[in-house]
Amino acid sequence: MLVKIKCPKCDTEGTLSLIESSYQGPYRCWKCRELFTITLKNNKLRSCEPLSQEEYVKQQEMETLRAKFKKE
Ligand SMILES: [Zn+2]
Repeated sequence: MLVKIKCPKCDTEGTLSLIESSYQGPYRCWKCRELFTITLKNNKLRSCEPLSQEEYVKQQEMETLRAKFKKE
């Protein structure tokens, strides 16, 4: 499903495709390229925290690791 996310910085609406109705993870605004950690519950945005590039990379690495462990 696609969930609409409004960027807190520039007010631009973007979409995020999700498998479940809950999500916690990184989101990047397609327009201003700002990074956020967002929490979604029942397709509703519950929290949105600014995320640094460094933190974003760290989170991406965690996701990659998690996916790797699942396979093994
Ligand atoms: Zn933005």
